[in-house]
Amino acid sequence: MQTPSYPHLCKAFGPYETNCYIVQTPQGELIIDPGMGSAPWVLESAPNPLAILITHGHFDHIYDVARIHEALPDLPIYCPSADAFMMESDCFDTGLTPCAPSVLVECKKGRAELDIQSERVTYLHFPGHTPGCSIVIVGDKIYSGDFIFKRSIGRYDFPYSSVEDMRESLQRFQALDMPNLEIFPGHGDSTHLKYEQDNVALWLSRM
Ligand SMILES: [Zn+2]
Repeated sequence: MQTPSYPHLCKAFGPYETNCYIVQTPQGELIIDPGMGSAPWVLESAPNPLAILITHGHFDHIYDVARIHEALPDLPIYCPSADAFMMESDCFDTGLTPCAPSVLVECKKGRAELDIQSERVTYLHFPGHTPGCSIVIVGDKIYSGDFIFKRSIGRYDFPYSSVEDMRESLQRFQALDMPNLEIFPGHGDSTHLKYEQDNVALWLSRM
């Protein structure tokens, strides 16, 4: 079966300009990382939402989940299991309204294949930036959260970060054998898988 290609909407929100994506599948919309102030745009732009997909639990990626949940209480909220605690409490004291995820995606440094109303969604777990830090693949696009950016990688010096995990995650990312998909990060511009795989050696040498 050929990999589908879906358009998406993207808009940056909040003081850290966190990208929120609305992936437009034939069944409806998948909402990725609804950050600070994104709820009105999400509710307006996603007439038939299927789920909220969280790449990791940092507040700037989950801030408006509670507002969307208030408007759409039955909408499933997927989050890597190891970061669920960041959604369940305001652990960074940012003023976040906690909102527990409804589906925990397992974090075993591997792949979790989800079927969301017949749409295939793949989570790849790359801890280091956070314990649950993951990238999400929908169709032919990678949503990399704060793991991989264009010519950069996520910070691994925050509370709950791990430099050892980050090193191992980068090595696994470098070894990924898959098509050269376009990567859409949690901040900044898009990039491509092979280009960022080629940059990993440089990041590893600086860690
Ligand atoms: Zn982050």
